[in-house]
Amino acid sequence: MKITLKNNFHNTQATVISRNGIISTSSLKRASRKLCGMDGCTCGGIHGPQDVGLRGDIDRDGNGILVVE
Ligand SMILES: [Zn+2]
Repeated sequence: MKITLKNNFHNTQATVISRNGIISTSSLKRASRKLCGMDGCTCGGIHGPQDVGLRGDIDRDGNGILVVE
């Protein structure tokens, strides 16, 4: 499933693919660079209202992932 992640601080967006409702760490890293490529910015990458409900979690290896709710 394609999910559009948004950043309403920089007005950017990035499309990621979720598998079984999970957005992987590598997808998140790629998306974050697209949403905010600025060193030292504290907006957090994904920022503001999103199209779908998202919850931060960690995978079995302790990496940050997103769960689609
Ligand atoms: Zn930023």
